[in-house]
Amino acid sequence: MRKIELVDLKTQYTKIQPEVDKAIQEVIDSTSFINGEAVKILKTNLSSYLGNCHIVPCANGTDALQISMMTLGLNPGDEVITPAFTFAATAEVIALLDLIPTFVDVDEKTFNIDPQKIKEAITPRTKAILPVHLFGQSAQMEPILKMATESNLLIIEDVAQAISTKYFFADGSEKYCGTIGNMGTTSFFPSKNLGCYGDGGAIITKDATLAEKAQTIANHGQSKRYYHDIIGVNSRLDSLQAAILNVKLKYLDEYNAARQKAASAYDDRLKELDGLRIPYRDPRSTHVFHQYTLTTTNGSRDALKEELDRNNIPTKIYYPIPLHLQKAYNLAGYRKGDIPISEKLCDSVISLPMHTELDEEQIDYICSTIVKFYKK
Ligand SMILES: *Cc1c(COP(=O)(O)O)cnc(C)c1O
Repeated sequence: MRKIELVDLKTQYTKIQPEVDKAIQEVIDSTSFINGEAVKILKTNLSSYLGNCHIVPCANGTDALQISMMTLGLNPGDEVITPAFTFAATAEVIALLDLIPTFVDVDEKTFNIDPQKIKEAITPRTKAILPVHLFGQSAQMEPILKMATESNLLIIEDVAQAISTKYFFADGSEKYCGTIGNMGTTSFFPSKNLGCYGDGGAIITKDATLAEKAQTIANHGQSKRYYHDIIGVNSRLDSLQAAILNVKLKYLDEYNAARQKAASAYDDRLKELDGLRIPYRDPRSTHVFHQYTLTTTNGSRDALKEELDRNNIPTKIYYPIPLHLQKAYNLAGYRKGDIPISEKLCDSVISLPMHTELDEEQIDYICSTIVKFYKK
């Protein structure tokens, strides 16, 4: 059996090596390392993939969040509602810009922000809602849109784990995550579903004016070279990374299908174990399985992790500490017990190896080890 990796980028690269190597060499030959042709092509390709929107590439997913919040004109003291159970980047940027993160709880089944909890958290100072489409599945965008309209709030979607996920509206229409709110932000970190070979990110928006402003902010606030109209940042996606992404975007649907196939195979073997809950499939969303995350229901998480470690099966805890209990972002004085479902999930979730190159033998070995653990 091949060694089991949490994420296997090496095998994936081997399969597309000639194309990737050629794309990289072309950039080197052009010496157009910054803002080269490959970056322009990525903007066009990703825009048409997502159904005609504006793409502003930048240096990473965290910068994409920061530039979006700067673009939307949020001011110090404004409150931004965001989930407590997610990666830290959202809270970090909110706090960095002197905004106030208002953390709310998530739905235990979907892991995504709970619309009812958003409603309860809105105050006169609330300016924006920042849902994160966690693990590859969309947050409940229809009720979130409705609340945003009613309370005049902006929506920034964090799509770092859900690029190419579709959300289904009640009327049967569908949209890609990232194109539903005012702005979407994504990351091309190597292990993401669409990942490059270094750091990268992008801002997504249907609004041409916002796109132009975001582009200006990402480029030192320059409307034209050496004319600085607003305070910006320096955040670029380099041409080499864009060239790699142009190759990998062609395979994105295929890659997602491989992840979904692995997830279904896990589901089949793990669905009936006492003490373990397989990932919920939300009928309002597709699932691109950035992570395959199990929930233990009988306090067995840490023992399960140790057993898998002993059998050379890598796993990860996404995430061990909810954001409201992180020292750096706890500006509102939250205490343990304030956001109970997020806290409980941090103690009970475990993510299995998930990538495009898992084979049947590996999945069988992983599942057999888990089944044996629970049937002991
Ligand atoms: C990866 C990730 C980010 C940050 O992306 P970087 O490119 O590493 O800055 C932000 N939000 C979520 C949910 C992520 O998973």
